[in-house]
Amino acid sequence: MNHILEQMQPSASMQLMARAKAMQEKDPGVIGLAGGEPDFPTPARICMAAMRGLTEGDTHYTPAPGIPALREAIAEKLRRENGIDADAARVLVTPGGKNAIYTAVCAILDPGDEALVLDPSWVSYAPIVSAAQGAPVRVKLHAAARYRLTREALEAAVTERTRLLIINYPNNPTGRILHADEADALEAFLLAHPRVLLLSDEIYEAIVYGERSVSMGARPSVAERVVTVNGFSKCAAMTGWRIGYLHAPREVFAAASKLYSHSVSCVSGFLQAGAVEALRCAREIEDMRLVYEQRRDLFIGALNEIPGVHADYPEGAFYAWVRFDLPGMDAAAMSEYLMEKARVVGMPGTAYGEEEICAMRFSFANATGDMAEAARRIREAVLALG
Ligand code: GLU
Repeated sequence: MNHILEQMQPSASMQLMARAKAMQEKDPGVIGLAGGEPDFPTPARICMAAMRGLTEGDTHYTPAPGIPALREAIAEKLRRENGIDADAARVLVTPGGKNAIYTAVCAILDPGDEALVLDPSWVSYAPIVSAAQGAPVRVKLHAAARYRLTREALEAAVTERTRLLIINYPNNPTGRILHADEADALEAFLLAHPRVLLLSDEIYEAIVYGERSVSMGARPSVAERVVTVNGFSKCAAMTGWRIGYLHAPREVFAAASKLYSHSVSCVSGFLQAGAVEALRCAREIEDMRLVYEQRRDLFIGALNEIPGVHADYPEGAFYAWVRFDLPGMDAAAMSEYLMEKARVVGMPGTAYGEEEICAMRFSFANATGDMAEAARRIREAVLALG
């Protein structure tokens, strides 16, 4: 057996989503807010485009990196919306953003190379680095500083073995975007460490509640060292389709596409036809974003009314990152307690590496009525602690 995989824990978000579903089979009143999964159906015109492909026989292999129409449309989107000097020849279409990250990390790291991951950060970055035989090193960001990304935090973690830094903005779980001054610090860091590549996971990019997050691939001084990852799961409500992409520097793309051609082959052509249509769905995506904003305001507002509970309004993504200052409670205990007492399933903050405070993450990509009810039940449960 591979000893790295033997020691690895499965994805906590996938596990807790499954646990919520199992609980709901016995008790339909359980509210599952663990997984980040839009409750909206995929917009109909995207489904129609995929169905057209399916019924017209688009059911065979496509070129490994993706169909030209989709790669061109992605490059055009990256140029237009992100200011990246993108080239369709360096776009790789993958089954979900997760596979894009895995493929890129495998392409970049030699065994033993270090990769920096933010702390807290999404549950899968560090395991992906380990699976690629790299060594994840955490860049500690602090709740007290609202998880600002600083040059000092990056310098404290970098060594001569660092080859990669993985960032994710809008951020899961904290809800922060990458502000221009943080991007400046990051750019200066990268210029001081020319061996380090940057992987920027921008999967939540269209779900913002004010200014947009900076795309580092748009900064000319570092653009040739940035892998940009994105996908359709979150913004276009296409989680189950499994379709995402990366845009990478030439050498990274060459290595990644070789691995991909040997491991995945390609994404189904009819799904790619749906993704082409998704890139034309700005209005549908904006309609969903507006609803997330209402839910954010409702849920965060209600949680902040509860004594001992605090949550900042996220700037992007659809997660409430909630701090519980309740005597004797840590994140694991709080998560179990809310599951049992409030019948609300959330994610313990420790799954993201947050050990300094008792935090939990709740997705608000769920029915507005469920969000109001979840807040009410969390309130009752917290008050019952006395
Ligand atoms: N990315 C989502 C989340 O953080 C879905 C599950 C997963 O891939 O981790 O909840």
